[in-house]
Amino acid sequence: MEIKAIRGFNDILPDEVGKWHFVEETAREVFEGFGFSEIRIPILERTELFSRGIGEATDIVEKEMYTFTDRSGNSLTLRPEATASMARAYLEHQLYTFDPVAKLYCIGPMFRYERPQKGRYRQFYQIDVEVFGVENPMVDAEVIVMLIHFLRRVGLEKLELQINSLGCRDCRPRYREELKKFLKQKAFQLCEDCQRRLETNPLRIFDCKVETCQEAIADAPKVNDFICPECQKHFDKVREYLEAAGLAYILNPRMVRGLDYYTRTAFEVVSYQLGSQNAVTGGGRYDNLFGELGDFDSPGIGFAIGIERLVSLLPKDREFVQYPHLFIAALGVETLIEVYQIINQLHLEGIRAELDYEGKSLKSQMRRADKLKARYVLILGENELKQGKAVLRNMETKSQEEISMEGLIDILRKKLL
Ligand code: AMP
Repeated sequence: MEIKAIRGFNDILPDEVGKWHFVEETAREVFEGFGFSEIRIPILERTELFSRGIGEATDIVEKEMYTFTDRSGNSLTLRPEATASMARAYLEHQLYTFDPVAKLYCIGPMFRYERPQKGRYRQFYQIDVEVFGVENPMVDAEVIVMLIHFLRRVGLEKLELQINSLGCRDCRPRYREELKKFLKQKAFQLCEDCQRRLETNPLRIFDCKVETCQEAIADAPKVNDFICPECQKHFDKVREYLEAAGLAYILNPRMVRGLDYYTRTAFEVVSYQLGSQNAVTGGGRYDNLFGELGDFDSPGIGFAIGIERLVSLLPKDREFVQYPHLFIAALGVETLIEVYQIINQLHLEGIRAELDYEGKSLKSQMRRADKLKARYVLILGENELKQGKAVLRNMETKSQEEISMEGLIDILRKKLL
């Protein structure tokens, strides 16, 4: 029986990979320009890191983690997100002793046992950006400015930046209680999951897609009506800095984000080009995360971009596939050793050259060159070779010219690169 990939786990095929390279290279360029450095963290961590960091009463920890016991009896989990791991690395390697401010990014796969559908997978890739060690609202705005700049650089349009403030450890409990009181009267309208969330994590009900839950929560009290003066001041400053940077945004009091560790600023960028899974990226401040992980407390803010969703939004008119510069059509086996030497040299020069290994007819080789979308074909026959000549055909204009084998590599380099 043929073995297939696991549901929700995708192959990224060669004709798609060009888009991924473009996104990842642009991310590196933009983020490094803003003073961020890459960090590479393991895919597997101790389960406790996520249950403590993300919070027991979140969907991720309750039902979406790939957790297993290894051969030594340790409970391990495939990372469902990168923030907790990045915070762990910052603490473990005491990066703060060099400078408390760490600006980091990481690119890689995450794993969540969610119900697969378009735009939602069980292995998916994120670009994750975090700033540790700064409480100042200027950095909240700076991170958002960088995010929008990056999304525009990759060519995204029809974006909407939504922001909210979720309050802090001091003011959010009061909101939670008010929300709970309000929703208790509507408990009969809530789905089974949300009835449970009402006790464990009522804010999560905002994210529920069930229609009756959405109706129940429609007139619920808003989190930003309950935030303390300190949080209000922080939020006002964030807005002021965003406005100073000329960024338009929408206040979305219903955006609460899924993870427990968020405090104060929360934001999402949605695209109206996507269907129901319209969030391309989301993030926020999490000043309580470090307290959960160790003895060293530090504020933090960051965001994660879903690469699959981002790639699906890239401009359709852009070409991301790297086609061969040149196809070498060699006629007659006698020439093959020479062709082999030429193609090796071309590859060393960075010229993408393809070859027919089977000694097929010229017609069949030209057909293959066409299929591969090679820009030029170099036709090498035994007679031409003896005379020190070859024919170069431009596949777009269909024009042909005779070129000398002497200095061939130089000629091709000038023409093709
Ligand atoms: P989160 O870590 O849940 O805040 O998600 C951040 C971003 O990752 C989202 O805006 C999506 O673009 C992407 N994302 C989250 N979960 C998935 C998933 N299961 N499949 C594909 N992309 C996802």
